Amino acid sequence: MKDKIAIVTGGSRGIGAAIVKRFAAAGAKVYFTYANSESAAAELAAETGASALRCRQGDPVAIAEAVDKIYSESGAIDVLVNNAGITRDGFMMTMPQSSWREVLDTNLDGAFAWTKCAAKKMYAKKSGSIIFVSSVSALVGVAGQANYAASKGALCALARACAAELGAKGIRANAICPGFIETDMTAKIPRDIAARQRERIALKRFGRPEEVAEAAFFLASGASSYITGQTLTIDGGLTGCA
Ligand code: NAP
Repeated sequence: MKDKIAIVTGGSRGIGAAIVKRFAAAGAKVYFTYANSESAAAELAAETGASALRCRQGDPVAIAEAVDKIYSESGAIDVLVNNAGITRDGFMMTMPQSSWREVLDTNLDGAFAWTKCAAKKMYAKKSGSIIFVSSVSALVGVAGQANYAASKGALCALARACAAELGAKGIRANAICPGFIETDMTAKIPRDIAARQRERIALKRFGRPEEVAEAAFFLASGASSYITGQTLTIDGGLTGCA
């Protein structure tokens, strides 16, 4: 990863911030995006030497401009991690169309826009690695997450389609499916429900952002050079064990 150019969407907090730190520690030049957390983004940039860009997932024009800016500054894009994501949980039958739209726009449409623009730059170099941060919600039914599950399931499918389309040009695409990871996103889960979920996990604990970052690092690096079109689950045994 030394001197590779990497983009991490939603890098200001949580899993994205851990990925930024892991890539930067390995000597990559990292660009990361955020929507609102300006001071967290500035602190992370100062700590790691990464560059922070305010760029909303719902704005494909801004995303195209950001990719052009990064490419003209650095001359390459080697790695794209489509990490930015949100939840707007609620029962499907009463889910407002607006919360369906917001989750799909942020989690899926934004990832598509980043991937489309970054893949064109990778195409020129005939190499690259694209990672989609999906979720175990893509793999098992979770009540209250119709919008989120649909967006995350689509990301796994998008990873496979990109792998098929771009493989001949040396570009790999994979998805990772974290389970419960300790971030602001899971801090919203009521304590009793979190305790029940923890009991269902074989390792009896939530994961740490750094543990997901290691998987992203592996898929970004040459250590995974023959892996594409795959979905890697990082859930402490939540979905794989009876
Ligand atoms: P988080 O702590 O809530 O951080 C979300 C990140 O996404 C922040 O950097 C946020 O920027 C950015 N973001 C949100 N909306 C955005 C938008 N419209 N435009 C640009 N950036 C936006 O979440 P996390 O737990 O680290 O989750 C990261 C990814 O992992 C998500 O895709 C999530 O679905 C997935 N995931 C998480 C878990 C888990 O248990 N935590 C499990 C499975 C999958 P701001 O700071 O500016 O808001």
